[in-house]
Amino acid sequence: NDTVFTFGGDAPHTNARQKDKTITGGKGANLAEMASIGLPVPPGFTISTEECLRYLQQGADFSDDLRDAVANALKHIEKSVGKGFGDEGDPLLVSVRSGAAISMPGMMDTVLNLGLNDETVKGLAATSGDERFAWDSYRRFIQMYGDVVLDMDHGLFEEALEIAKEDKGFYSDTEMEASDWQSLVGEYKRIVSEELGREFPQDPHEQLWGAIRAVFDSWDSERAKVYRRLNDIPHDLGTAVNVQAMVFGNMGDSSATGVAFTRDPSTGEKAYYGEWLVNAQGEDVVAGIRTPQFLTKARREQSGADKPSMEEAMPEAYAELARVFELLEQHYKDMQDIEFTVQQGQLFLLQTRTGKRTAKAALKMAVDMVGEGLIDEKTAILRIDPMALDQLLHPTLDPDAPRDVLTTGLPASPGAASGKIVLDADTAELWAGRGEKVILVRVETSPEDIHGMHAAQGILTARGGMTSHAAVVARGMGRPCVSGASAISIQRDGRTASIGNREFKEGDVITIDGANGQVMAGEVATIEPELAGDFGTIMEWADTHRRMKVRTNAETEADCRMALSFGTEGIGLCRTEHMFFDADRISAVRQMILAESEEGRRKALALLLPEQRADFEAIFRAMAGHPCTIRLLDPPLHEFLPTGDEEFAELAQATGRSAEQLKRRAAELHEFNPMLGHRGCRLGITFPEIYEMQARAIFEAACAVAGNGDAPVPEVMIPLVATRRELEILRALVDDVAKAVFSETGVALEYLVGTMIELPRAALMAGEIAQEAEFFSFGTNDLTQTTLGVSRDDAGRFLTTYVERGIFPRDPFVSLDIEGVGQLVELATQRGRKSRPQIKLGICGEHGGDPASIAFCEATGLDYVSASPYRVPIARLAAAQASL
Ligand code: ADP
Ligand code: MG
Ligand code: MG
Repeated sequence: NDTVFTFGGDAPHTNARQKDKTITGGKGANLAEMASIGLPVPPGFTISTEECLRYLQQGADFSDDLRDAVANALKHIEKSVGKGFGDEGDPLLVSVRSGAAISMPGMMDTVLNLGLNDETVKGLAATSGDERFAWDSYRRFIQMYGDVVLDMDHGLFEEALEIAKEDKGFYSDTEMEASDWQSLVGEYKRIVSEELGREFPQDPHEQLWGAIRAVFDSWDSERAKVYRRLNDIPHDLGTAVNVQAMVFGNMGDSSATGVAFTRDPSTGEKAYYGEWLVNAQGEDVVAGIRTPQFLTKARREQSGADKPSMEEAMPEAYAELARVFELLEQHYKDMQDIEFTVQQGQLFLLQTRTGKRTAKAALKMAVDMVGEGLIDEKTAILRIDPMALDQLLHPTLDPDAPRDVLTTGLPASPGAASGKIVLDADTAELWAGRGEKVILVRVETSPEDIHGMHAAQGILTARGGMTSHAAVVARGMGRPCVSGASAISIQRDGRTASIGNREFKEGDVITIDGANGQVMAGEVATIEPELAGDFGTIMEWADTHRRMKVRTNAETEADCRMALSFGTEGIGLCRTEHMFFDADRISAVRQMILAESEEGRRKALALLLPEQRADFEAIFRAMAGHPCTIRLLDPPLHEFLPTGDEEFAELAQATGRSAEQLKRRAAELHEFNPMLGHRGCRLGITFPEIYEMQARAIFEAACAVAGNGDAPVPEVMIPLVATRRELEILRALVDDVAKAVFSETGVALEYLVGTMIELPRAALMAGEIAQEAEFFSFGTNDLTQTTLGVSRDDAGRFLTTYVERGIFPRDPFVSLDIEGVGQLVELATQRGRKSRPQIKLGICGEHGGDPASIAFCEATGLDYVSASPYRVPIARLAAAQASL
């Protein structure tokens, strides 16, 4: 049989299958590994995950083969410890523990002290010389077995224990004496037979197989399934079962049990960290029955606790434990999370695994371990989860500050913010202009709210998911956002909002936490991110190992500066339309759109030209010679149209036309499907004066900045191209403007003209299009929409179900659909390079900041990725990981 593996005692050193976590689970593989390097591990055996899958599929009884193997493995334990399973004189007791390849709460709880019955308990009392201990162990066993294996309500046992203590006038479990435990055992057994209509199983073998079966069954328990779903863990791994000789932390004051980390998991500091309890067993430390004590003296002193640390109370066992910590770190070359028990002064190890840690601790440990020579730089880079960096890049709430939580929505964009509630974008801008901090609270947001979102410290919406407009824009801007907080209702007339069941007025202060979706009353203190130190070191290492450049999506000077501080190497996407929404220009934009003639449009565009030029000057100056890809106007004009009588009246005044005329024109511009309508380069073809104005603003700004400072490198990008001819026409337009501006200013600059590849046809025709394009930028947001035929703004209604049902592995707007859309990117790359070998290739859009998509870009050979400013460090690290 090759599905049951022994460890400890004189078991042979582990073979490859036993070391494989997918076969023996994380716990089993590591127990065997620890035993093989000579650490004190109680002997035991592991039944492989394959047996679990077989059992779950066939449901039938266990095979003779498995029963034989388990009987043999039991003999190994008996021989190693010199006791007999079920032996009434000197009984062997075991624990039965679950353990999957990936550590997974929700699986079966451990059963301790298995093998006890009415006879063996007497043997245990005799051999240990401790009646109290024996009966305490037996009652623990019935309680655990009843709860975990027999599926009984554990409240019944707890109640009986409470009553027993009350009867005696005892306050704590430690006051219970042998006879008290003994009568409680009687009571427990009575409860079992009353509840189940049969006696508590006395046969140790029956107990063992019952427990094994329960471990296997727990793989398919509801809570395990939910956990797997939430954490993207496959459902077909199965769990292993570990059966292990008991060691006892509850054998008096020289015994103890505890959990420890070899380094501090929250700060990363190289200091042992842990908790322990004297005279206790297993779950007591985490169960909260007694307050655990600190492991080290330093910690105890620091916290002012009076109960002694293990270092003080059991110096010898502690010294041994410290030696083991060092050994394990040297062996696994990573921080370990350890469970141990001390039985009458002797240390035993019951588990080790790579410890979970905060992002901050992960960075510190990685840098420290390189310094200690434990790991190399590459390992350090690979060990950091790029997405976890997000936790570190935004101000976060002070974990020690009190929180008055009103409701919880979706954590749509990380970071925390406090400010006054404002209920519309204009008010947000107005109040922010007065220097006030505001949180924009909306049912949901639309492109018209952009200026308000920019002005706000954070955004809170009642509707919309993780890919709603609010969420996407907020992430792009680096604004914290909580979306879909359905317990909010907004009364616009009264300028009030109710959150949870409390009423707020516009101007009342709230705090949102984009990391967990909490909405809180009042201001909660924050702490600033730390970008130097370990973070800086890891980033430096990543930069030396990455091939692709990392650019950013930015359209304001502030975003540029932020992205530069995060290490960007240029702008990959500057969306000019965001500038069109600013309060001081929207009127000119609307005049332009609603004009009936080219002349009318030119008049309005003349008003916009100096504004756009000033925008670009600020950007070029901030970017100091780094390349800047600027996309000409892309969205459907209808997004800029006035809404409501007030706005039409205002516009009528500015243009001298009647509100009726303007409304008629607005109605003419209405589109049924604007995302596939009059937008992108189609605007440039039909209203060339718009693109002319933008190109002029770009080149005039570039020439002005070139005079004093680093020469800007403008890359003019034409959106939504499907054919070579479109690009040919618009490229000529841009070149003409450039020529004119250069001759007017006497400055000549290098610049590029290129296109987005965001339509399937563009990808297919990339060879042709490349003849006109000096660069391609894959606009994977639109390319995903147009390839899948799925509108991102409407996808919320079904995408979650699609992901749950396994139709898409992940939201394709968050992580690129490599299998499908990825083919178009690859194809366009090949065809584009073939016709223009020097063509520059990049990706912009949300995927440029997603590690899995970045790995795909590296494999495809793109030159750069472009991500929102706050994702720049994530992209730098992910790009480095992808090229290692
Ligand atoms: P979990 O996966 O929930 O941590 P474990 O299987 O690790 O469950 O068991 C929990 C605790 O039970 C261990 O940390 C240890 O304290 C105790 N335990 C498990 N097996 C034994 C054993 N053979 N002897 C003593 N204590 C044990
Ligand atoms: Mg454990
Ligand atoms: Mg697009």
